[in-house]
Amino acid sequence: MKILVINCGRSFLKFQLIDSETEAVIAKGLCERIGIEGSKLIYTPTGGEKQEIEEPMEDHKKAVSLVIDALTDKETGVLTSLSEINAVGHRLVHGGEKFASSTLINEEVIAAITECNDLAPLHNPANLIGIRACKELMPDVPQAGVFDTAFHQTMPEEAYLYGIPYEYYEKYRIRRYGFHGTSHSYVSARAAEVLGKKYEDLKIIVCHLGNGASVSAVKNGKCVDTSMGLTPLEGLIMGTRSGDIDPAIIEFLAHKEGRSIDEIMAVLNKKSGVLGLSENVSSDFRDLEDGYNNGDANAIRALKTYCYRVAKYVGSYVAAMNGVDVICFTAGIGENAPLVRNFVCEHLGYLGVELDQEANHKRGEDIAITTPESRTTVMVIPTNEELAIARETVRLAV
Ligand code: AMP
Repeated sequence: MKILVINCGRSFLKFQLIDSETEAVIAKGLCERIGIEGSKLIYTPTGGEKQEIEEPMEDHKKAVSLVIDALTDKETGVLTSLSEINAVGHRLVHGGEKFASSTLINEEVIAAITECNDLAPLHNPANLIGIRACKELMPDVPQAGVFDTAFHQTMPEEAYLYGIPYEYYEKYRIRRYGFHGTSHSYVSARAAEVLGKKYEDLKIIVCHLGNGASVSAVKNGKCVDTSMGLTPLEGLIMGTRSGDIDPAIIEFLAHKEGRSIDEIMAVLNKKSGVLGLSENVSSDFRDLEDGYNNGDANAIRALKTYCYRVAKYVGSYVAAMNGVDVICFTAGIGENAPLVRNFVCEHLGYLGVELDQEANHKRGEDIAITTPESRTTVMVIPTNEELAIARETVRLAV
């Protein structure tokens, strides 16, 4: 089967066409600046040349139709006709408490996702626009929705409730939801597979360290806690997001700087994290690693503070699960920054973690980076959210 995986944001649409039998990517690409001047489609057929097609895209429907044109183009396309697409899988950000697993999309499901818009006002409406555009252009093709929040719905109440009046949970559903669920689920299951152990027998901590970053505790194949909360602002220090802070800082800063709550929230989302901590050296860990190697105090401060927070979360999840068998690193930083893994693991001596430095410097493999003697296994597992979405889509659509 050929599955089109779509990740739709407010002004972009990323896609991959995946062959579900071989799990190979047939083509992939990105539409950027949708609804803004200067929009373009970047399209790469596997084994072929990357193309950049500048074309006005007034909305997502136009973007989807350009993707279909590129995929079916006589010269550079990979499909002879649109009917070769067997199903579409959508990455959806927030399923609230309504969706504990992926689902086939129908009008009822669209209405239920719309009800979650309040919880993700930037993402969910954009996801829905993508669904509508695909439904209009491919009315007979089954479509599945795979939620970022779904994997975390198994968390117990003690992990998802905040220490605020319970009536706010009842009235507004304010609670921890967690994000990156598709990645946490894929990586934890893959770690068990690579180790040749039963997923249901393991206690696994997944550190998804990308531009956004979160940690999760997966016990016997089910998520029992995760670091992102009602929104993706909570938890780890990220590229530009603060992660956990004392909530009183918001009011304190608003008074001191004479700014509104919205302005302070923009600081916490866009100007904080390692970018803010490093006095604007960068939010990109490649730059921070360069800075570290050149002895730049700003980069060192940002890196050390970032890694300490990751280690603290790992410790709290060891407590949550009363132990840990495997710790996984994944996503842009988790997969590519041996220095970060080193700094985090320096705090994990109490777990008997012994890194194998040669393995720690390899790239692009599912690999254990601890020695055979290490009491806890630490692994690098490259995440593959698109493949996970394609697999879910096949499971639902067949
Ligand atoms: P993601 O959100 O998973 O795509 O991760 C993106 C982030 O990964 C970038 O902002 C970088 O900070 C980081 N990253 C990507 N490649 C490298 C690398 N080779 N070394 C260190 N960090 C990297």
